[in-house]
Amino acid sequence: MALEEYRKKRRFDITPEPAADSTAHPRKKGLTFVVHKHRASHLHYDFRLQWNDVLLSWAVPKGPSLNPSVKRFATQVEDHPLEYARFEGVIPQGEYGGGTVMVWDIGTWTPAVPDVDEALRKGELKFALHGKKLKGSWVLVRTRGLGRSPRPAWLLIKHRDAYATDRDITVEQPRSALSNRTLAEIARDEGGDVAHAASGDP
Ligand code: MN
Repeated sequence: MALEEYRKKRRFDITPEPAADSTAHPRKKGLTFVVHKHRASHLHYDFRLQWNDVLLSWAVPKGPSLNPSVKRFATQVEDHPLEYARFEGVIPQGEYGGGTVMVWDIGTWTPAVPDVDEALRKGELKFALHGKKLKGSWVLVRTRGLGRSPRPAWLLIKHRDAYATDRDITVEQPRSALSNRTLAEIARDEGGDVAHAASGDP
């Protein structure tokens, strides 16, 4: 478990995010993947893969692209607890990541390499996604970062297969994979800033 940074950044008496203090994780078949759409100070997507009892996490400013010629910048951020996968709601303003969070896609993933830990160390992880929106073969490749960020910089790239297309899935399928709500509807239901959230809807 490497959730110290996750816990340090958050005040769990204020944010509705999971506190990551449970030790028992329900064992389900397969490894979870989730993509959160997060209307914080900047709109971005958070791409998360279950590995070693946490969700490895990357912030993807433009979100995933189904076009294999498009490389999407993905900054690795702190590991998140497994319970975070189904978190959808509003993080209060002034708190870390304050804004509206949507489960934009959820499902399972399958490594396409024999040793995931080694692939992560070497900076090239190939995998398949089995989500409601994202499917087929993908790769995360570590790259030289922009600027001076100490965060590892990666690229998220779709491989060419039956699910590749140049249609923009973030525009065509903007709603929650769990609740079918828009960001504005989540903000309205959970007491957030509706106008700010709506600015992240197409
Ligand atoms: Mn985020």
